[in-house]
Amino acid sequence: MNATFQEIGGWLEEGESFALLSHVRPDGDAIGSQIALGFALEAMGKTVHLINEDGLPDNLAFMAGAERIETPSAGPIEVDVVIALDTATKPRLGDKALAAVGHVERWINIDHHKSNPGYGDLNHIDDGSPATGQILYNLITDLGLPMPPETRDAIYVAVSTDTGSFQYAGTTSATYEMAADLVRRGLEVGKINALIYDNHPMRRVELMRSLLNTLEVGSGGRVAHWQLTMDTVRSLGLKPEDSEGLIDIIRAIQGVTVALFFEELDGGKIRVSMRSKDRRIDACEVCQQFGGGGHALAAGIRMPGPIEEARKKVLEVVDAKLSQIES
Ligand code: AMP
Ligand code: MN
Ligand code: MN
Repeated sequence: MNATFQEIGGWLEEGESFALLSHVRPDGDAIGSQIALGFALEAMGKTVHLINEDGLPDNLAFMAGAERIETPSAGPIEVDVVIALDTATKPRLGDKALAAVGHVERWINIDHHKSNPGYGDLNHIDDGSPATGQILYNLITDLGLPMPPETRDAIYVAVSTDTGSFQYAGTTSATYEMAADLVRRGLEVGKINALIYDNHPMRRVELMRSLLNTLEVGSGGRVAHWQLTMDTVRSLGLKPEDSEGLIDIIRAIQGVTVALFFEELDGGKIRVSMRSKDRRIDACEVCQQFGGGGHALAAGIRMPGPIEEARKKVLEVVDAKLSQIES
């Protein structure tokens, strides 16, 4: 059962100190949500810690307030309330982060992944929202919480990145109305978009070149997939965030229904990114079969390697699903 904004607001009022967490390999919605709610709480006079297992990725370092993102301390963090943001399952908060806040008694879980089981004491899971940042916008405006510039800009980054620049099907009229309101509140659209989208390191383009060399299209042109091995990660000096969003290149191919990205991680696990363009192929459902999760049209997995094996297993399931629907 979802907690109401009023119930969550009660805990925000009562608590004095908060640890805000988001998922491993954080994206714009994860970090943006932390900064957005964190600065609103701080403006209310609260003590706030913004913690991420993997820390701040370089591609989000431009965000106002980004310097506040810390990796988990070795010892426990004493706070009244933990707030998990944009994180589909508790383990995705990361081992060190969980060790640091595991003893805290009050947990709020705010997310938009339909696979979120509701692991908080208060849960607000809205899978109709295209980004956790949009839920926070609603929370902040409904409760009349402060919206300092860091919060305003972070909400925009969260929602823009999770909607592919306001393109994906989950983008609603409320999303555009929210964006208009943020602009009215002083957001500089041109400036922030240039920082998000026109500011990639050269190695990301080298990565694109390398990925294109591994591209395979199968199932009668309906599945496109490519892969990134540790060798390439090392030789190009890649950072985890360098591949963020690149899957959209193969998702955009005419006739392709499913796009998959397979990546070798340090330690031998394989990270899978999946995108679907057809609601009859539920990416979340496919990924859940392998212990992952996400949304109907965008989901992911962390599964055992080797990469060829992972690729084969996932492609088999996708092919079977595709054969059930007409092309
Ligand atoms: P990505 O392909 O990494 O951009 O992830 C697509 C969506 O699926 C995001 O909303 C992720 O938070 C979610 N997701 C990715 N990997 C997992 C996982 N292993 N478990 C649950 N959700 C995931
Ligand atoms: Mn995310
Ligand atoms: Mn999200």
